[in-house]
Order: sequence, then structure tokens, then C-alpha cells
Amino acid sequence: MKLLSQEQIETLAKFKCKDLFTTSFFLDTSKNRLTKKEIQLSLKNLLFNSRKKLKEMSLSKAKKESLVQDLEKIEKYCQQNLSGSNFVGLAIFSGSECDLWKVFNLVKSPRNMIIFDHNPYIRPLSAILTEYHRICVLTFDRKEARWYNIYMGEIFELGSLQSDVPSRIKEGGWQGYRSKRIERHMTSRLRDFFKKTAKETFTLMKKHNFEWLFLGCKDEYYAELEPLLHPYLKEKIKARIKANPGDSANIILQKTLKIKDKLKKQEKEKIVQNFISEHEKDGLAVSGLENTLSKLNRGGVQTLLVTRHFSQPGKFCPKCHFLFTNKSECPSCRVKTKPLIDVIDEAVEAALNSSSDVKHINPPSPLDKYGGIGAFLRYKI
Ligand SMILES: [Zn+2]
Repeated sequence: MKLLSQEQIETLAKFKCKDLFTTSFFLDTSKNRLTKKEIQLSLKNLLFNSRKKLKEMSLSKAKKESLVQDLEKIEKYCQQNLSGSNFVGLAIFSGSECDLWKVFNLVKSPRNMIIFDHNPYIRPLSAILTEYHRICVLTFDRKEARWYNIYMGEIFELGSLQSDVPSRIKEGGWQGYRSKRIERHMTSRLRDFFKKTAKETFTLMKKHNFEWLFLGCKDEYYAELEPLLHPYLKEKIKARIKANPGDSANIILQKTLKIKDKLKKQEKEKIVQNFISEHEKDGLAVSGLENTLSKLNRGGVQTLLVTRHFSQPGKFCPKCHFLFTNKSECPSCRVKTKPLIDVIDEAVEAALNSSSDVKHINPPSPLDKYGGIGAFLRYKI
């Protein structure tokens, strides 16, 4: 299954394998960068190291057996499917004794890893999804309008509309006949065509839940169309691309992706800047792992900012599921805490479960100076 939506991750985040462990597997399968042999070799190494680690782990027999089965199933799946896959990454979540088996094909390469834990390790998936927006591209001129759906590096044409506006009057061709009446007639036809185009764009944007709208047209047509767009659409216009309806889908895709990457980068930089200014004025923001976990435990986090690939072991309370950096006892329940392989991943999960936003920031960024993690708060405690 291709990883496509936040819902898929949330379902996985809610999954709990009560007394047993689950296996989360990630493999970089980019055939652009790696040969088939190299991919097979990293798979072999990954499985070998995990089996070795598993032997050394002090787990109950039942837990170990379930994990051994997971690794066998994953190995078998890879042997049968890897060579035929065109995706650059693979994620598998398995819990042999608790009916968990989910395979995701990824559009962005993950780091190679296998993680044994109570619940699926979802951070790499959530980090991939936040990179993508559903983009509608509309290209148009006086003769034609064409719409595309671009998501996760793929493009689909949604449809097109032809106008009945006559071609421009060729110089000399209408000599002697040119009249204000003809020009007016053409302008009104062109206006009707743009009105139809604006209406259809609105319908498509709502139908496909697009987040961003990109327009490809000449300046003169943009000036005609823009005032006709619904305010909802005007808000969604994120960029203009140099393209027209005659361009191939691939050209439209390449131009869109280039601008999208630039916009994403700017968006992240702006979030970090806002975070810093909020933090500096002692407003609704906290920084550092300990402070962030404490606010997260109390449901006070609006948006969690986390540095990509930053991970750290931690503790959690088995009773109230609060997360800690290094507490041996839960201060509210007075029970012994349990160790976590990566408390940051748990923090991402906790944030998603409480409907907070999660932003993954590429390092290096100014967030590094604030402990690599922070949050915008819902309220001041
Ligand atoms: Zn507790």
C-alpha cells in the first residue's frame, strides 16, 4: 500500500500490542542511488544485526518468538517483492502474535532500521507525509484550461475545458472590418470562458481537498481570471508557474515540484522563526525535551516542532503514559517508569493522538540551539 494519508498513520499510532512487542522495519530502496545488490546487502545486514540484538535482549520467550517470526515474515516479503518495486522506500510493521501486518511503499527514502517496541515506530512516516501537500495546478490561455492533481511526486490530469473564443485577429486580416463591436463580443466570450474556468476550479478544489493552488498562464490572463476566483481559492494560490495548457504533464510536474520544495523550505524557516520570537518574549512556547514532554503530558501542546532524525531514549509511566526524559518514578502515579528506545517518537505519537500538529524540521536549523525540540502551546500554564 502506498503511504498516502495522515489517517493511515493515526490508525497505526493507536495500535497497541498489549503484552508483546511489534517490529517496525524501514529500508531505503532507492534504485537511483543504490544498485539492487546494495539494497539486498543492506537488507541482509539489517536483518543479521537485528537477530543478533534480539538474542541479547532480555525478553520473555513469547515476546522473542513473536519478534523472530516478524523478522522471518519481513525477510520473505522482501525476497518476493523488492526487485519489482519502484518505490524509494519500504516500511513494514509487524506483530506476529497480535495480528499486525502493514506494508507501506514510500516516496521518500527512510533510514535503514528495525525497531522492536510495544507499538509501531511511526515517526519516519509522519516525517514523510508533512513534506507533501495536495496541489492543484491550473494552466490556461484564451483557448483552453487544464487541471492537474499533484501529490507525493505524482501527477494526474483532472480534465480540461475548451473555449469558443475565436483566435486573435491576425494583423491585416480584418483590415477594414475591425470594429469595436467585434472586440467587445470577443472580450465577453473570453470573460465567460474565464468564469467557467474559475467555477470549475472551485468545484475541483473542494472535491479533492487541495491545500495549494498553482496557476500557469500569461500575466494578461492572470489579471483577467484572478478577480473571478472565489475568495477561498484566492487564499489557496501559493505560486504561479511558467507553463501553459500545451505543456506535457511531466513538464508541469517538474516545475511544480521545484517551487513546492522552495515553499516548504520557506514555510519551515518561518515556523522556526515564529517559535523563537514567541519563546524569546516568554509567550506560548516551550523549548527543550524536558519542558516539551511536560507540556505534552498535560495536553497543552498546539504544535510540536521536532528536528528530523533526532532521537533519545527516555521513560514512560505504564499507568498514565506520561513521558519523561529520565524519571525512575511517575510523580503523579507513584509507579516505576519503564524505558523507551526513543522518547521523541513517543512524543510525536502522543502529539498526533491529541490532535496536535507535528512539524519536522530539517537540521541544521536555529531549533538546534533550543534543544532540537519545542512546542507552541495551547494555553499558558
Ligand atoms: Zn503516571
